Amino acid sequence: MLESTMRAMVLEEFGGPLVLSEIPIPRPAPSEVLVRVRACAVDRFDTAIRAQVRERANLPLILGHEISGEVAEVGSGVEEWGAGDRVVSSLYLTCGRCRWCRRGRETICENFRGHVGVNVPGGYAEYTVLPSSSLVALPESIRHEEGSLLANVVGTPFHALARRMRLTAGEYLIITGAGGGVGLHAIQVGKLLGAQVMGVDLGEAKAAAMAAAGADRTIDPTLVDLAEVAREWTGGKGVDGVLELVGPATLSSSLGSLSKGGRLVIVGSHTGDAWTIDPGLVYRNEWEILGSRNVTVDELATVVSLTDQGLVHPIIDQVRPLHDAEELQQRVLAGAVIGRDVLVP
Ligand SMILES: [Zn+2]
Repeated sequence: MLESTMRAMVLEEFGGPLVLSEIPIPRPAPSEVLVRVRACAVDRFDTAIRAQVRERANLPLILGHEISGEVAEVGSGVEEWGAGDRVVSSLYLTCGRCRWCRRGRETICENFRGHVGVNVPGGYAEYTVLPSSSLVALPESIRHEEGSLLANVVGTPFHALARRMRLTAGEYLIITGAGGGVGLHAIQVGKLLGAQVMGVDLGEAKAAAMAAAGADRTIDPTLVDLAEVAREWTGGKGVDGVLELVGPATLSSSLGSLSKGGRLVIVGSHTGDAWTIDPGLVYRNEWEILGSRNVTVDELATVVSLTDQGLVHPIIDQVRPLHDAEELQQRVLAGAVIGRDVLVP
């Protein structure tokens, strides 16, 4: 029998504090599952929602979209999950019926309803309600703290490199912003797929983290010319793929690093919105410029399996209790986190 209330960090006004509150435990509707949150990783996205510089959200709000936990109760019609099942959740709220959902590309769902932790309450709480179809089973071999990293910082580069870029063994890959949470796991995925990987980021701490994650080479683009180093690294040809996590600040040198027929996959952009490109370079080189968005539930299951087999290692910095959410968000904003910090509600 569940208790009737839970602890949650509640955002009552944009830009305001996260308030530790005792609130009613939500109940699962049909096709939904009540999950006892065991770990919720803290993302820069959470801070952007809180500051209201990203998607619209309704207040009061419980942030947190990187969730691992145990099934506590299932709504009517849910037969695939039972109490006690260990699960991780994908981030997106999708319809399951549109043409893209039917084709296994639900990250571009035509009836996209938003994110867990933005458009419905998230994981900065002891319990949260999630769509049954968003959940993937988590084996005992993976701790919940690790599980909370899989859908975003591991899943995002997996979708980007394996599916969108179609990276294959022996290819050369550059990852910009590779010292961040997604980037460090992108290095691991790139190595797993058999590529030579160069990590690009600022400063010695990031260089050490990129090397520890498996990068064959690391550079600081403020000290050397990325395109020049890329040519030298590949015997003059240029790299087969660039995973772009930075945006306009690095996009031009990323393109300048590409070989003929190269693929540039854009996953993130936090250095502005506008970017100038010479279309002649794109068609003469038959470059592919692709977008990539998070991970599908099917791919998340693959990511769980890769982690279970010890082929991917989630990189966790600090693990803290729920009421330290404020401090962990400040660490994210200060750029102090290597990998991810995780709340354990
Ligand atoms: Zn859909």
